[in-house]
Amino acid sequence: MAWDYGRTPKESIEFCNCCGRFKKLLDQPQDVQYDRYGHPVTVWTCPSCGLIYLSPRMTAAASTEFYATGAYRDLILAHTGETSAMRQAAQWAYAESLFERLAPHLAERVRVLDVGGSNGLVLKRFRDDRVDRGIGQWFYGELLDPAVDEILSEGGTGHANTTTAGTIEEARLDLRPNDFDLVLCCQTVDHFTDIAEAIRLMAVTLRPSGHLWIDWVDCTGFYEVKIDHPFYLTSATMHRYVDAEFTTVVEGHWDGYHGGLLLERKADL
Ligand SMILES: [Zn+2]
Repeated sequence: MAWDYGRTPKESIEFCNCCGRFKKLLDQPQDVQYDRYGHPVTVWTCPSCGLIYLSPRMTAAASTEFYATGAYRDLILAHTGETSAMRQAAQWAYAESLFERLAPHLAERVRVLDVGGSNGLVLKRFRDDRVDRGIGQWFYGELLDPAVDEILSEGGTGHANTTTAGTIEEARLDLRPNDFDLVLCCQTVDHFTDIAEAIRLMAVTLRPSGHLWIDWVDCTGFYEVKIDHPFYLTSATMHRYVDAEFTTVVEGHWDGYHGGLLLERKADL
């Protein structure tokens, strides 16, 4: 379906989501006028912490609808020319690579929440490993993603023990504290409308010493403005978001433009 960005409900951002600084009258927007799809946007940089963000941007409710209706996927595929099969192959390669990276840090018996987990291929990779070794019952995977059709049509429900259609900001009442051993946030954080709140919720639902994997498009390596990315992150701003609740286990850059952190939840939040 076509997405009418002009008529989409939007909101202005008055406080920096990363450091909390109030946007002042003297602040100047960057000179970016259209995103990669041709939508008019205004981009700001926080003078205190360096966070880059859109303002105005879609409201949280509009953003959820954007993903839930499939408009996001249609926009991406129309822009990149990628077929569904190509995307599937790329996601499987990603899942394979991430599994290799995280496996040494995880116990055999593991409860995993994949936030923005799309069609569940990352969960499938972890599950397959344990099923192949006869310990499939030691794996529990939960999938949270707003794109209902994507989850249903590509087998996501089959890869997860529990599937919830929604965003982490909306699902907060269903999250249990100290529950998961691993939370995955795979190339999803740039899409959140409130990163600070999402990080807090992911920390709360992890058990002490549980792990969070989070990766993002690092805008020092690749910078392309688009309406579905309210925020543009660097290693510095990402650390500022997570350092109060997590310690860093692994810091990595995979492919020239994604930054990634494997983090361990501090015992006392
Ligand atoms: Zn800031």
